[in-house]
Amino acid sequence: MKEKVSKTERTCLSCGETAQKSELFRWINANGTIMLDWQGKLPGRGVYTHATSECIEHLYKRRSFPTRFFTGKKAFITPFSDIFTHIYTLSLGSFRHFCSLGLKSHVLTVGQEGVAEKYGSGEGRAAIIFTTNDISAKTVKKIPDTIKKIATALPLDKEELGASLTGRPVGIFAVEQGSLSDRLSFYATIMTRFFSGDVHADK
Ligand SMILES: [Zn+2]
Repeated sequence: MKEKVSKTERTCLSCGETAQKSELFRWINANGTIMLDWQGKLPGRGVYTHATSECIEHLYKRRSFPTRFFTGKKAFITPFSDIFTHIYTLSLGSFRHFCSLGLKSHVLTVGQEGVAEKYGSGEGRAAIIFTTNDISAKTVKKIPDTIKKIATALPLDKEELGASLTGRPVGIFAVEQGSLSDRLSFYATIMTRFFSGDVHADK
């Protein structure tokens, strides 16, 4: 029996595999120019790709598109040379947005002591831990092993992360597992992936 694609799944135009819509990038035809629909909510015909350099590059290099999506001379609003920097910037913006939502709804724990106290025992494992790239070895030593193992390093320093949180430098924070942590993890992955902005896949 053929497996049915669920309502929340879409097919990546580049590699042909399906994934949850929330994990894919949506691209729309905006009056004859292809653009990334970051929020996935803009009207118009759309296609999806994975949030990877391979599938994005493949989209840019395609000679033709499904005619229901795009016909005519291929044009992208963001040139290929800028797309990964563009995506990084958007990811950072969304990451900050969801951080501030997390603070407001009290699902975020900021700072080494607070995180260690709440999640250090290993019992409160239902959390995602993020650290900055400039967290000191001394601080890392103080973080319980249970936390170290599951921490995700962000391509941000304490000042940059702090700017999205308390306004003061922050090297570590934890978020309770849920839809918010899913979004933060998604954007953190993309930020890490496209940090340098110059991802060169094979020709
Ligand atoms: Zn793909």
